[in-house]
Amino acid sequence: MDEGMRQIIGKEQIAARVRELGAQITRDYAGRNLNLVAVLKGSFLFLADLCREIQLPLTVDFLGISSYGDRTTTSGVIRITSDLTQPCNGKDVLVVEDIVDTGLTMRYLLDNLATRKPASLKVCTLLHKPSRARVKTPIDYLGFTVPDVFVIGYGLDYQGRYRNLPFIGVLDPPPAP
Ligand code: 5GP
Repeated sequence: MDEGMRQIIGKEQIAARVRELGAQITRDYAGRNLNLVAVLKGSFLFLADLCREIQLPLTVDFLGISSYGDRTTTSGVIRITSDLTQPCNGKDVLVVEDIVDTGLTMRYLLDNLATRKPASLKVCTLLHKPSRARVKTPIDYLGFTVPDVFVIGYGLDYQGRYRNLPFIGVLDPPPAP
């Protein structure tokens, strides 16, 4: 492991939880028209592992977003930088996100996607920081709850780096807010 980094959720622990989530989603969406909508970039590894644990026909699409904020927190001013490639009306949309922190990004995404008339709209997030919630976010499938720390790895970055780590960790010392 690199110096200045501490692992908080290991590779095997992530794999086991992703398997459980995949099994649960497989049961819940049997016979439905499942469309996974992954939020770029942070959820790309989670999506790749999760979709292979779902034993159902499904489609995958991506939403690129950017939020204006300081280095480690969001301002809540969010913009779609790359839209879905297919309409999602009539589909059972499951948003796949890396982390719900203040909840502002998810609130924006859910409001936006709801206007497109999906058959259903639910949320699957790998991580949740409940202590930082600023708006109530419905989370239907949750990997892990994390404390109020800035996490990296398994898709999550700090200044564009660390996404390729196979585990979730924290920088030590933590980045300045
Ligand atoms: P929210 O709008 O819920 O405050 O933040 C959501 C977005 O902020 C996430 O999709 C993620 O991109 C970023 N974010 C929030 N907390 C963390 C964190 O601890 N680590 C990293 N790498 N990104 C985070």
